[in-house]
Amino acid sequence: MELIGRRTDWRSVLEARRQKGESIGVVPTMGALHDGHLSLVAAAVGRCDFVTMTIFVNPLQFGEASDLEAYPRDLERDLEVAEAAGVHAVFAPSVEEMYPAGKPSTVVAPGPLAARLEGTSRPSHFEGVATVVTKLFGLAGASSAFFGEKDFQQLAIVRQLVADLDLPVEIVGCPIVREADGLAMSSRNRRLSSSEREAATALFRSLVAGRQAVESGCSAGEAEQTMHALLQGAPRIEPDYAVAADPINLERLDPEAKPAGTLRLLVAAGVGPVRLIDNLAACPPVTGAGRQIP
Ligand code: AMP
Repeated sequence: MELIGRRTDWRSVLEARRQKGESIGVVPTMGALHDGHLSLVAAAVGRCDFVTMTIFVNPLQFGEASDLEAYPRDLERDLEVAEAAGVHAVFAPSVEEMYPAGKPSTVVAPGPLAARLEGTSRPSHFEGVATVVTKLFGLAGASSAFFGEKDFQQLAIVRQLVADLDLPVEIVGCPIVREADGLAMSSRNRRLSSSEREAATALFRSLVAGRQAVESGCSAGEAEQTMHALLQGAPRIEPDYAVAADPINLERLDPEAKPAGTLRLLVAAGVGPVRLIDNLAACPPVTGAGRQIP
C-alpha cells in the first residue's frame, strides 16, 4: 500500500490507474479508523479496481479549536488497518499541503440543506466539509466515493454538491455500522469514559422508540416527543435535537401529520466531552387496499 502526502502525487497515481482502464474508489475519512470506515472500504473493494482512502482531519469543518485538538489521531495504526482491509493507496496530507495559504479564499457554500439540524449547532461545519470534499474530488477525478449514512446530512449535502457542480464522481451511501448494543461506531466514542459509553446507547434507544412510534401509526410530532422523552430521561445526556425528517431534503415533517412514506429520524446529543449523532429510517404502517392495520 502506498502512502501519499502530496496533492500532485495523489492526482498522478490515480490518473495513471485510470489510464490503465481501472476504476477508482475513494473513501474519505478523518482517520482513527473503526469498522464503520472499513465497511466503506469493503464496499469500495467490491466495486472498484483501485481503492484509495484519504485521512485528513480538516480544520475548516471544526468550530472550536479544542474539538479539533482533541480529535483522535493514530496514523500508524490506521495505515496497518487500511492495508489489511485492501486499500491500495492512502492520501494523508498535512494541513499546510491542503491549505498552503491558510483558509482558502474560495469556499463552497452548500445551501439550505446545510442550515438545518447539524448546521444549527455547527454553523460553518458543512461549508468546511463541502470545501474539502470538492478539493478531494478535484484531485481524485472521475471516481466513485463512499460515504456512511452515519453522517446522513453530510451524505445528502455531498450528493447535492456533486449534482449542482457536475463533479464526475458517483456517490455511494453505505449503512451505519453499530456496536453490539446499538451505539453507532464513531471515532469520537474513544473519548467517552465507561459510564459515558454506557449512557451513549440512549441515542440508538431513542431512535428505536421513535421508529416504533412511527410504525404504530403515530404522527411525526409524537415520534419526536417519544425520542425527546427518552433522551431527556437518560443520565449524562444533553439532548440537542430529535427530529423526524424527509429523507431527501431533511426538512422537518409537519408534526401534526401522519407521515405518508419512509422518513428519517435524526438525533444529536452531548455525552460528556463529545457530541454524538445518529439516525434511523422509519416506515409508517401501510394503509389501504390489501392491508389490515390491527
Ligand atoms: P469520519 O472519519 O468520521 O469523518 O468518517 C468518514 C466516513 O466514514 C464518513 O463517510 C462517515 O459517514 C463514515 N462512517 C463513520 N462512522 C460510520 C459508521 N458507524 N458506519 C458507517 N459509516 C461510518
